[in-house]
Amino acid sequence: MPLYLVFTPIGNLEDITLRALRVLKEADIIAAEDTRHTRKLLEHYQIQRPLISLHEHNETARIQGLLARLTSGESIALVSDAGAPTISDPGYQLVRAAIQAGFQPIPIPGPSAFLAALTASGLPTDRFLFLGFPPRKRKARRELLVSLQKEPGVLIFYESPRRVPAFLTDILEVFGANRMVVIARELTKLHESFWRGPVEEAVHAFAEPPRGEIVVLIEGATETSLQQIAPAVEQVLAGLLAGGMSVSETARLIADITGLPRRELYQRALQLENPSP
Ligand code: SAM
Repeated sequence: MPLYLVFTPIGNLEDITLRALRVLKEADIIAAEDTRHTRKLLEHYQIQRPLISLHEHNETARIQGLLARLTSGESIALVSDAGAPTISDPGYQLVRAAIQAGFQPIPIPGPSAFLAALTASGLPTDRFLFLGFPPRKRKARRELLVSLQKEPGVLIFYESPRRVPAFLTDILEVFGANRMVVIARELTKLHESFWRGPVEEAVHAFAEPPRGEIVVLIEGATETSLQQIAPAVEQVLAGLLAGGMSVSETARLIADITGLPRRELYQRALQLENPSP
């Protein structure tokens, strides 16, 4: 019998499909990231089914038991606390194991925060990259951003509100002041809001951590943004010039390393050498 992947609301309890409700009502068992959380949803829709927990700390241990249930003909509905199971949530290992055991999981589509955020962001929707939560350590986070500097698609991240100020600062330093960002907050809830503007302004607007749940969207690289020199590169330029390297040598070296246009780097290095009064 099937393993259903049931999408659940990301805030507003009305965001659940008729099919999702039927599948939950008919499932032999519901595997939930947090059974207390899911019980509230089930109570709201007067659904009474047995629940079993499946979260990041017990997913591996649960797999054999759940596969045995599928083999014996039971149906399982997998849900997470919000949105799509397996998307920055548990379930991927179970999906893999089910496929390997010959059970094709059946998605029961519904809300997911990153798609809701993208559709209303005003950023291009034809090409995007969803990256889940960025690394918590600053070095790893910046390395990830550096690897994405030339990505033309919209970059979509989940981030905890208290880490939003530091994340925006990293985006500013790696991508430069003018990259557009959209901060989608509390989607489908009472205080839903969208902030949009250049990252330089976002750093000021979110100097204090915002409240609620957050999706951060970053405009993809454009021809113009690729020509812009990020503050981190400027620092290296200034450092090399201060160390005695000539303007043209500095521009050539940084162009070779970063792929930025040598002419722009040369102009900027000249300005740094001879700041206008
Ligand atoms: N599986 C979920 C999905 O499909 O969107 C994501 C789960 S992940 C553990 C939780 C993160 O998703 C939050 O920290 C936030 O970044 C984002 N998120 C979830 N609900 C949201 C909402 N209502 N508004 C904005 N962001 C939300």
